[in-house]
Amino acid sequence: MPELRLNLVTREWVIVEKNADIHPADFIEKNLLKKTPDHLGSCHFCAGNEDIIPDEIYRIQDENGWKVRVVRNKFSRLSGEGPHMRWGDKLQRAANGVGIHEIIIETPFHNLTTANLSSDQLKAVIETYKDRLMAIYGDPRVEYVVIFKNSGTSSGTSFEHSLTQMVGIPVMPLQIRDRIEAYMRYYDDNGGCLMCRMLEEELQSGARVLLNTDHFVSFVPYAALSPFHVWIFPKRHSGSIADLRNEEMWDLASALKVTMSKLYYGLENPDFNYAIRSGSPENAKSKFLHWYLSIVPRIGYTSGFEMASGMYVNPIQPEASAQYLRNIKLPEGHT
Ligand SMILES: [Zn+2]
Ligand SMILES: [Zn+2]
Repeated sequence: MPELRLNLVTREWVIVEKNADIHPADFIEKNLLKKTPDHLGSCHFCAGNEDIIPDEIYRIQDENGWKVRVVRNKFSRLSGEGPHMRWGDKLQRAANGVGIHEIIIETPFHNLTTANLSSDQLKAVIETYKDRLMAIYGDPRVEYVVIFKNSGTSSGTSFEHSLTQMVGIPVMPLQIRDRIEAYMRYYDDNGGCLMCRMLEEELQSGARVLLNTDHFVSFVPYAALSPFHVWIFPKRHSGSIADLRNEEMWDLASALKVTMSKLYYGLENPDFNYAIRSGSPENAKSKFLHWYLSIVPRIGYTSGFEMASGMYVNPIQPEASAQYLRNIKLPEGHT
């Protein structure tokens, strides 16, 4: 019989199948790991093509040129100009579509993805996340900053170049508000942080842990919504990436690289999304908020059942996903 598991962080129920005939390897789409050139003349984001988007907001560089560039998203659905305004009457509520939409170009090279960026490069990317998060929250119109990465067509992008997007939005989305309320309730009921408690239990059991570094733990959640879904939690309680310390950024770069390499080699470069769920700089000191990074390889499918019920079906037991990824041997330079 399948088992129903409640994901305490997202408050979603998951039907976890216990089907012994389904193996992690069944989810590999053997169509990828293709060869791409390291530079593409038509790409908006490759080194040498900076003139295509000259409006640069931020950069990290060394003696060889830029390592990371941040530009405004020209095709943003939100406008960077104009005041934060809301209006409405009776049953209608609206707000000005203002917001800040930035694109973080993670590398000058076209053919690299998170798994094969160097730790040094990933550290620069993480430093950029921190700096831009703080800058965007500095805009009084911004209520919440979304940080996400799309990779591959089924993740919702047509760009091949490795990018992260940051969007400062003028309202608090329901999903975020619901989760914050759940963390607050947990804190009220138990006098501690839900994520800190969850980390303790994951480390104690070890069944779903992929990686345990000085400052981070990478694991498949107990009630993972889909196969090979991975969370990376910081061990130090903090509500925001704004107070990441230098040694933590180095450690996160390496934890992210190893985790993404496990997916890259284990599932043959799957399309994926990742998101950083972080509060504002002021939230760093919150007793109940604990930031984390969530990675979802796009290898399953969702059906009308998910849409109609808000419940998910995970055909692979999270423990089996974790075991499969733990057993993936990484080539030199990826550990
Ligand atoms: Zn490119
Ligand atoms: Zn915590």
